[in-house]
Amino acid sequence: TASRPIDFIRQIIADDLRTGKHRTTVTRFPPEPNGFLHIGHAKSICLNFGIALENNGVCHLRFDDTNPSKEEVAYVESIMRDVRWLGFDWHDKLFYASDYFPALHDYALQLIRLGKAYVCELSAEAIREYRGTLTEPGRESPWRNRSVEENLHLFERMKTGEFEEGSHVLRAKIDMASPNLNLRDPVIYRILKVPHHRTGDTWCIYPMYDYTHCLSDAIEGITHSLCTLEFEDHRPLYDWVLDTLQTPCHPQQIEFARLNLTFTVMSKRKLLQLVKEGYVDGWDDPRMLTISGLRRRGYTPAAIRNFCHEIGLGKRESWIDMTVLENAVRDDLNATAPRVMCVLDPVKVVIDNYPEEQVEEMEAVNHPQDPAMGSRMLPFSRELHIERADFMENPPAKFHRLGPGREVRLRYGYLITCTSVVKDEDGTIREIHCTYDPATRGGSTPDGRKVKGTIHWVSARHALPCQVRLYDRLFVAENPEADKDINFKQHLNPHSRICIEAAMAEPSLTDLAAGTQVQFERQGYFCADTVDSQPGKPVFNRIVTLRDTWAK
Ligand code: ATP
Ligand code: MG
Ligand code: MG
Repeated sequence: TASRPIDFIRQIIADDLRTGKHRTTVTRFPPEPNGFLHIGHAKSICLNFGIALENNGVCHLRFDDTNPSKEEVAYVESIMRDVRWLGFDWHDKLFYASDYFPALHDYALQLIRLGKAYVCELSAEAIREYRGTLTEPGRESPWRNRSVEENLHLFERMKTGEFEEGSHVLRAKIDMASPNLNLRDPVIYRILKVPHHRTGDTWCIYPMYDYTHCLSDAIEGITHSLCTLEFEDHRPLYDWVLDTLQTPCHPQQIEFARLNLTFTVMSKRKLLQLVKEGYVDGWDDPRMLTISGLRRRGYTPAAIRNFCHEIGLGKRESWIDMTVLENAVRDDLNATAPRVMCVLDPVKVVIDNYPEEQVEEMEAVNHPQDPAMGSRMLPFSRELHIERADFMENPPAKFHRLGPGREVRLRYGYLITCTSVVKDEDGTIREIHCTYDPATRGGSTPDGRKVKGTIHWVSARHALPCQVRLYDRLFVAENPEADKDINFKQHLNPHSRICIEAAMAEPSLTDLAAGTQVQFERQGYFCADTVDSQPGKPVFNRIVTLRDTWAK
């Protein structure tokens, strides 16, 4: 909304455009294809692509694919699908860091020639040990002062596969006494004898993230390289690489606070564990806070974009409550989702004074606040289903639904009064017998009597039996990762999915297209599952419950 003040990144960008530092903006969204995108990535997508849209600039989609051991083509495809689904377009600006392998290799040769990089034969463990700590300076590697010729020769031998993994690395020669540990001669190339999903086995040396990222930004002419706060102390290295080498430009790295959301975990590594270990049914399980999980659950792109806008952009770590995300989808669907009726836990109602063979068509509006959404006809007959919870044998005074001798309104139907119940041997109610008042068609009371309760129903003979999946938060703890000694999986919610096998929906839902959202009146927002729905036999996912229920 227009009332929110401009965030600090957009302010920097506006200043750069005003002063002429830049004539346009070039941003990028740089995912590593080692998993599916999650709601945290949506924040970065909305930011980077949003800035491009606002400034008539461009936003690149760049796969940061420099670690072949964890990356897959399937992830690349899912990421493209998810970015598009969120409503953004990279046009022809699709890049892969792996396409820069030759250029990055040339830059490495330049660093060596400048005396700014060397081949080191310390083990990974020794490198760590030599690096020192925040309070202790590092020690120089015994290989630090090799000649340029020797380094060029050894680096070439690394490249041709002569050495084992882990035996040699290329390190930037910066400052082993720097207070910033990232500047203590960081590794910039390692040997990995793993085929790459795009370059096959052309390469057996792969560049490290910090070295690759700044150079990829520079090669692409990025103006503002936006990343999360963990990279703040990597910025001096980002700048060192670009200052030391002759690059076409020097993008500005700006850090912002990542999205932390309560009641979930966010890292791809942990989401992958949930998938691999079978705690969820895949990356697109409707309980996963992945973009594909949210999509399957029934979230809309607009709801996610609105959420990202609403949480704002800051420089300090903070937590966003899950209710903010849930409210975003409620607000969107409240305006757009047609209202329908579905009985989740059915009990039969028999209207004894209603003619046995008669069927009436009752008109029901699709959205009470939006007449443009039209209306539909609901069959009404002698036997109906209502929610078991809408009847009580011995109700308290405040219970405004059905009970012996009590009258209730059937939404878009008639007023009915309970006359008796039929029970099974174990005491479960099997049938509720009622009479109806023919003068109350559509739910009005010509004599002006007040009937507080209105309940939903379906005609038993016409109802569509369907499966409904009641989803809830995947974790019961606000921060499943708060205690390092407790595995986050111990906080999984055992009731995060409840399957109802025989809910009864109004017949208009028979042909609802998979992926369509509706409101089940008084129950919540639901979406026809895109994977398990069959023609004429939808499966419904609960997206979110209703904040308020009407006339309960
Ligand atoms: P994860 O730790 O979940 O694997 P990542 O940062 O390693 O995430 P990348 O694929 O490298 O995943 O992320 C691509 C972009 O998305 C990066 O620019 C990163 O800063 C951004 N991003 C990732 N997680 C979040 C988050 N929680 N909030 C905001 N931006 C995020
Ligand atoms: Mg990353
Ligand atoms: Mg990661």
